Amino acid sequence: MDPVRAHHGHREGGRVHFPDLMPLADALPRLLDQIPVLDVEERPLLNAVGQTLAEDVVSTENVPPFPNSGMDGFAVRAVDTPGELRVVADQAAGHVTDVAVSRGTAIRIMTGAALPEGADAVVPVEDTDGSSGGSVRIHSSAAAGANVRQAGEDVRAGQLALPSGSLLSPAAIGLLASIGRPRVRVFRRPVVALLASGDELVGPDEALSPGKIRNSNSFTLEAQIRQAGGIPRNLGVARDNLDDIRRHVDEGLRADLLVTSAGVSVGDYDYMKQVLEERGELRLWRIAIRPGRPVAFGVFQGTPVISLPGNPVSSMVCFELFVRPAIAKMMGQGRLDPPTVEVTVLDRVDNRGGRRSFMRAIVERGENGYSARLTGPQGSGILTSMARANALLDIPAEMDEVSPGDALRAILLDWSALV
Ligand code: AMP
Ligand code: MG
Repeated sequence: MDPVRAHHGHREGGRVHFPDLMPLADALPRLLDQIPVLDVEERPLLNAVGQTLAEDVVSTENVPPFPNSGMDGFAVRAVDTPGELRVVADQAAGHVTDVAVSRGTAIRIMTGAALPEGADAVVPVEDTDGSSGGSVRIHSSAAAGANVRQAGEDVRAGQLALPSGSLLSPAAIGLLASIGRPRVRVFRRPVVALLASGDELVGPDEALSPGKIRNSNSFTLEAQIRQAGGIPRNLGVARDNLDDIRRHVDEGLRADLLVTSAGVSVGDYDYMKQVLEERGELRLWRIAIRPGRPVAFGVFQGTPVISLPGNPVSSMVCFELFVRPAIAKMMGQGRLDPPTVEVTVLDRVDNRGGRRSFMRAIVERGENGYSARLTGPQGSGILTSMARANALLDIPAEMDEVSPGDALRAILLDWSALV
């Protein structure tokens, strides 16, 4: 097939075919297969938020460590209720009285205080006369065990509290603290080098001159790396010449993962591709997605390199599709696919072209589930519609047109690995 036709596809029976384009579902597993899970490090709890546990954590303690009161009230023997009881002591949280509850007596107790010897239930203060002059009237009958938190009812000593592979959410961090684990073994976060390229790029604090545009990819991609849980090493911009790109790429290969943007299409000054090919086998994929398409991948000196397209939205979308799952795998996460929801599309969307499209959308929850509405023009350089989106509407290649009311899936964008 001639290259122009291959590039733009051709119509056959009313449908456009791209025989040389690779479906995302083929490319992604090939890439992820070659991404390593990183080594394990031991970290203080709070430095491990968002990382993945690399050990089975078995508790050596009971949580709670002793039976205690779930309410402010009176520790009693259930058989003595209802009735008038003599208050023989006070038990505050963190303190232990040596007085026991015996027949006809009660101990005033605070939430979290150890259940005194002899008591088997706690009557909340609301179910009493509040006690006056050394005695308390219990209005109703309490069952044995009422309002008592038993030793080990959350975690028993010897129990697996968190399995290896757990994502350390705030709750998981709290659970580890609750069983007396100040440090944990987790998979390391990857250092992700990031390299933009192009003679046209100037920073947001530099003057624009003829022919120059602002570099936005260094910013979007660094922000995405952080959000994905990676440690960004921003290498700035390599200019469109072999020496500058070589220097920057070699620097980038010292990281755990190198992400580059631009310079892998078929333009005359696309030297990125050439430099990467010098370093080993580069797979240049033309993926059947929109936006996106040219994505290159290779492993050089043990470092995976993912080259994203230059257009600002294409690079962001390809980051979500390829780089985010790669970072998740490096960090030992079990789930590599993004969260999706089923949505009812509210707009009419033209998807002719035979490619799977990821369109910028706002997903909202309504009375009948989630709905999706496009956020504006979908050109691959239009960042405003990306900035307004909270999801990517996933339109299958076979679907030439989406009609209002159609059900599709949308990838949610505001998930975060808690950096
Ligand atoms: P290329 O892949 O080099 O052909 O770039 C494709 C398009 O993306 C061109 O319009 C570039 O100017 C643009 N582009 C490349 N890199 C960046 C960047 N870092 N920030 C914003 N736009 C970029
Ligand atoms: Mg370029």
